[in-house]
This record gives sequence, C-alpha cells and structure tokens, in this order.
Amino acid sequence: MDTERVERLLDAADLPSLLAALAHATGDPGLVPGDLWLNPDLALQPDGGWDEQQVERARDLAARGIERVVARVGGRAGPADELVASLIDWLTGADLDVGYRRMLAEELAVTGDLRVPEPIGGDGWPPIDADHPVAVIGAGMSGILAAHRLKQAGVDCVVLEKNGDVGGTWLENTYPGCRVDVFNHVYSYAGEQRPDWPEYHSSQPVLLDYFQDCARRWGIHDRLRFGTGVDAMSWDEQARRWTLQLDGGKAVTAGAVVSAVGQLNRPLIPRIEGTDDFAGEKFHSSSWRHDIDWDGLRVAVIGTGASALQFIPHLAEEAAHVTVFQRTPPWLIPRPVYHEPLAEGLLELFRLIPGYAHWFRLRLFWCTHEGTVGALRRDPAWDGPLDQAVSRRNEETRRLLTLYLRSQFGDRPDLLSKVVPDYPVGSKRVVLDNGIWASTLKRPNVELVSDGIERIEPAGVRGADGRLHTVDVIVFGTGFRASEFLMPMRVTGRSGADLHQTWAGDARAYNGVCVPGFPNLFCIYGPNTNIVVNGSIIYFAECATHYMVECLRLLASQGAAAMDCRPDAYDRYAARMDEHNSQMAWGISPVNSWYKSPSGRIAQNWPLPLVDYWRQTRLPDPADFELL
Ligand code: NAP
Repeated sequence: MDTERVERLLDAADLPSLLAALAHATGDPGLVPGDLWLNPDLALQPDGGWDEQQVERARDLAARGIERVVARVGGRAGPADELVASLIDWLTGADLDVGYRRMLAEELAVTGDLRVPEPIGGDGWPPIDADHPVAVIGAGMSGILAAHRLKQAGVDCVVLEKNGDVGGTWLENTYPGCRVDVFNHVYSYAGEQRPDWPEYHSSQPVLLDYFQDCARRWGIHDRLRFGTGVDAMSWDEQARRWTLQLDGGKAVTAGAVVSAVGQLNRPLIPRIEGTDDFAGEKFHSSSWRHDIDWDGLRVAVIGTGASALQFIPHLAEEAAHVTVFQRTPPWLIPRPVYHEPLAEGLLELFRLIPGYAHWFRLRLFWCTHEGTVGALRRDPAWDGPLDQAVSRRNEETRRLLTLYLRSQFGDRPDLLSKVVPDYPVGSKRVVLDNGIWASTLKRPNVELVSDGIERIEPAGVRGADGRLHTVDVIVFGTGFRASEFLMPMRVTGRSGADLHQTWAGDARAYNGVCVPGFPNLFCIYGPNTNIVVNGSIIYFAECATHYMVECLRLLASQGAAAMDCRPDAYDRYAARMDEHNSQMAWGISPVNSWYKSPSGRIAQNWPLPLVDYWRQTRLPDPADFELL
C-alpha cells in the first residue's frame, strides 16, 4: 500500500483503538507496547493524551500493522480471550477487575455476541408456553431486544405494539433534524454493531432503519402484533398469570409481562391558559405535521430542550418568522462532529482492518462510559455555592461551557445574557451543539423570548411583558411525561393492588425491573435506569433484559410459576438510589427537569457507575424474591 494512502488513513484513525485492532488482527501484542500505555484520566483526549513522540511512534507501529494485515502476515482475529483481555486493559489504561473486563468484552463483541443466553427450561415448563407466553409490551429499542433474547432462550413470547411497525421513539419522532445525540457507534446493540454509520450522530430515518433491520435479522416478526395497545393488565392469583386487556376489547393471558414501553414517549403539553382558544394549528414535536407548508408562516416554538434545538434550525430556514419561548436555557456541549459524516478514511479502515470498528466502538464506549459523570457528583469538600456548582470539577466544566457560549454569542450581548444557564451543569439534560444554535438565534427571522408566557390567545402567544406575538402555528417542544412510568395502563397486582396508587407518582423498581406485589412483571428502561451524560440507554436495556431472562431461568430451575420481589429489598434499593441521587447535580439543584417526579424525587436517573448496573443485573438473588 502506498505511503500516502497509509498516512491519509492514519490521519482519519483513532490511533489507540487502531493499534488494539491491529494487535488483535495480527495476534501481535508488540503493537501495543508498554510505553504507549493510555492514561485513563486523559482517555477523552484525542489519542489518549499521548505526547508528540508517542503519537509518532503509534503512527509508525500502526503503519506497519496495516501493511501486515493487508499482506495477511501474522495471526488472524479469533477468540483469543487472553489477548482480548490484555488489549482491553491496554485500551482503557485502567486497573479493571474481572467483572468490569467481562462487561467491556461483551460490549466489544469482536468475536460475536457474548450475551446470547443459554436455553431455559425444557418441554413442559409450566408457567410459560405458547398459550401463555411472555407478553412484551412495546416494539421499540427495548421490546425487540427482549423478544430477541427470549427467542434465544427458547421462551415463547408475543410483542404487543400499539403502533403499526417496529421502532418506538424512532418511529414516532419524525420532526426535522431529529438525530441521536449519543455517538451512534455506542448507541447500538453490542451484539449487532454497524460500522458504517453515515454520521457520528445519524438521523432518525437511519436509526429507524437500524432497529427495523435488527428485528428482521433476529427473525422475531412472527411474534410481533402491531396495532395492539394494552389498556390494562391484572394478575390472576389462582392461575398465577397476567391477563392483558387490549384496546380492541380482546384479552391475552401471559405467564410473565415485560414492560418495554419507553420513558420519553408520552407528550407533555403544558397547561397554558388559552391554549384551546388558539385559532391556528398547534402540535407537539413528537407528532410532527409534515403536511404544513411553512413558507410565509409565523411560528411560535415553546421549549428549548433537546428536541427543540434540533428542529428550530430547520423551521427557521423554512418559515417566515420563528419566536422561540425559552423558560430555562440548556447548557450546550460543543460537539464539532454533531452533523458530520463519518470520515471516509475511517470507513476505509473499518473495511480494511478486521474488528477495527469494534475496537473503535469500545474506545468510544469507554471514553463516554464513566466519562463526564464524575463532574456532576457532589464533592463534600466543595465549599462554593451549590446553586452554581457541586464540585470544583463541576465548576470547571461550568467555566468551560460558559466560555463556549461566550465564543458563540459574544457578538450578541442581548442573546448572551439569555442563553447562559444559572444552574449547575448536569442538573438537567445538556444539549449537543456545533454552532447551529447561535447561528439560528442570530437569524433576522428568529426571536428568543425568555421572560415567560402570560397566556395563549386566538392570534398568538402573549408574553409576560404584555406583548402579543402573532403566529400561525404553535409547536410544543415541551418534552414528555417521563416520570409517569407505564401510564396510561392500569396495572393490578396481588390483592388487587394498583401499580400507580402504589407508586403514588414516585415510580420505583428493584434493579429498575421488579415491583413488590406485581409478580412476573419485568420493566426494561424502568425507574432509575436513565442515563443523561454518559453511556447509552441501549446498554441499560441490555443489562435489564439479561436480568429478566435470568429471572425466568430462576423460576424454571425452582419449578416455580412466579416470583415477587420482597418489599425490604425494594425499599433498600430505592433508598440507595435516593441517597446517591441526592449527591448528583440533578438531585441537588432545584432547577426543573424531567428527571424529577412531581414530588421532586429523582425517579428516572441512575446515579452510580454504569458497570454497577451490569454487576447487579447478572443474576437475581433468590433471597430478594418470594417464589409463588
Ligand atoms: P425536554 O428536554 O423536557 O424539554 C422541554 C422544553 O419545554 C424545556 O425547554 C422546558 O423548559 C420547556 N417547557 C416545558 N413546559 C413548559 C412551559 N409550561 N412553559 C414553557 N416552557 C416549557 O424535552 P425534549 O427536548 O423533547 O427532550 C426530552 C429528552 O428526550 C431529552 O432530554 C433527551 O434525553 C431525549 N431526546 C433525545 C434526542 C436524541 O437523542 N436525538 C432528541 C430529542 C430528545 P424547562 O427547561 O424550563 O422545563
């Protein structure tokens, strides 16, 4: 291969993961020498914080490694577990224990999916069979994964989906500009990796296609029942089964239920006085009106969260005028590649070097894994004002992000004064930016209103300053009812207990999955399993799904029909979540966010290292359950 081409490829490469891939592909650990050990504290920096000489040496080694792979010299990628383990150690630079290393090996999946469950039970396992399968509610990211794993475990299941197709949130949210705000390689199933994402943060149609493609490849279509919403379900104490009432009036019985209904899919339209009187069109971002011709229209957008910041730039290009009503500005995280296609050199390397895409994904996973979350944890020694920051590191992040906002809005002091948040970074969801927010707000046809809404009138939105903003359309970018888990289903458990009354607005679940009094009900993406600045929710869904399958295995091994979480385990678990959440920026700051239930309790977020969730979802502890 000519030197020029190699140099071009190396320019596009992430060198640490490339060296790991080359060492794996050639079987030569000499490609990851000790003097290129990566410093975990500098993991987020390009090339892991290596100095110039180290980068040169890495390029040199990588060039030779590429030549060898291309010439097919040396070993071949294979299941060399020891080599993989040592390369994981090298790539993370961290002192990992066996469990952590195993979790990363599963994420790497370079020799195939390591999360395939062993088959459960056998003929005649009584509680779950073709007549009484596991009912999975929802065919989004979590639901299709649950169906896939159940199929692999040899357990009958049926997936009840209210929509007409697979995809969940990626099917419903079709607003312009919708894209994934986690690196796309990380936002994918470990066992179903796709190297050639067109962009670092691909758009909604690409994500939808990925999930639909996974469902096809997993061969679960015969289990999917579309257009089938679940209104209610109740536990039959005698039969020890669930009966699910479907919205068409029919019912199905199930040996167990997996709730995979998502968390951010029930629109929140705020109660603003006069909303119903508005004479024009109004809709929520998750029900985008593609039939509207925006040319010449004046539009009001309420909300400046992740969704709004994605669609407002598009509206601003098409509509005559956009008035943006902002209640609380979001912190913006600069991400220059936010809208960028994957570098061609990187795609070429993925094709050329076996396994490189997997190692590249693992490094992204590692860097964004514990990543920035440490900066959101309270430092007890921090004596600064808590309404500004919760630790020195949090304060430092605040300073850097404020500098970013100044660099973006420095020439518009009128805007700058409105867009700098006054709460600690991480108290609410941060939003990615590549400069598009500032360029949008600076457009002559865009106005940012930040002093509140008094009411909505037939002709438009009246601001708190008394001014009427006359508009033709109102778009609600106002988010979702995130704390209302499993709503609006009525869920009746043992002794007639109602799930929503039990929760009383503050949803909890042991391991994010089980609730006492509701046997054989397993939640995926349940309470306190949401992550907001690191990792990917797919990782959480994979852990919870594994746990659900292992719970069924426990039942089968014990010859039991059902399992019910013990209240003391549930209470201890919730107290642990609360204690740790109270030490996070989102639990300390009074700023409003969708992380909080109406009582102010954090019912959504996971407050611990991500690997802790993997550890605690390996196997159910029989002591935490009553077997029925
Ligand atoms: P959101 O983050 O909850 O934002 C809602 C916005 O509406 C906020 O600016 C909120 O203001 C405002 N709002 C709510 N009620 C209001 C009222 N009565 N008056 C004025 N303003 C009001 O919702 P979202 O943007 O739809 O995003 C929700 C989550 O979905 C995100 O945080 C993210 O996790 C996920 N998401 C992901 C992607 C992606 O990956 N592509 C894209 C979009 C969304 P306050 O801040 O003052 O409450």
